[in-house]
Amino acid sequence: MKRCFFLLVVFSLFPKKSYSNQFVFNHQSKSIQSPLTETELSHLNAEFSGSGYLRVKGMSLEGFSGPGLLKVYAAFSFMEKVINSNDFKKRVIDFKNKKGERRFESNKGLSNEEIYEIFMEGREVLQMDTPGEANLYLKLYDNPASRVIGYTSSKTNLININWKYFKNFEIHEVSANLTHEWTHKLGFGHTSAREHDSVPYALGYIVRDMVYRAMNQLSSPKGRTHLN
Ligand SMILES: [Zn+2]
Repeated sequence: MKRCFFLLVVFSLFPKKSYSNQFVFNHQSKSIQSPLTETELSHLNAEFSGSGYLRVKGMSLEGFSGPGLLKVYAAFSFMEKVINSNDFKKRVIDFKNKKGERRFESNKGLSNEEIYEIFMEGREVLQMDTPGEANLYLKLYDNPASRVIGYTSSKTNLININWKYFKNFEIHEVSANLTHEWTHKLGFGHTSAREHDSVPYALGYIVRDMVYRAMNQLSSPKGRTHLN
């Protein structure tokens, strides 16, 4: 079976840190009980003006519990907020590869605009009848000896996530991982784990950076004042 591996390389830019709590909300390691309060969600919604709405839906979450479950739900929330923003649209459409060309690698002959439309349309190759939904079927597995963060294949909607990495990931890293794997469900691939300008990697990086910024906007005193 041909598998597409999503290697650690993606997040190698992030410094390693230790956590007293798996559910880490910001870089000050402040833990919270729930992903977002109702007030924070409504403020965050107001911050983004959407350009066609794509819901992020957890269809099945096998092996997740406790703080891990909270973390994955928080990743869904933040991922949904950022991908529905005009900023995300702009970042995808304006994306330039390392050669300075406004196109993704392994783009299947599609323009940045077309890739954005396909992403927001939400029709997975194996689930074409759910437009407007990013349907995520996730399964946690534990392989301490592996350097694979997660993997999936073209034959299934299931995305396998390695607990070894997930347990230490922050929300923006989980959101990035899910975005990367989900673009595989849309039929996009990469030639290697070093093809950082491919659709899965590049969109994963965009979501990672946007979620990180959104988390800090919510958690910083300045951000809270601004959001209020
Ligand atoms: Zn991949």
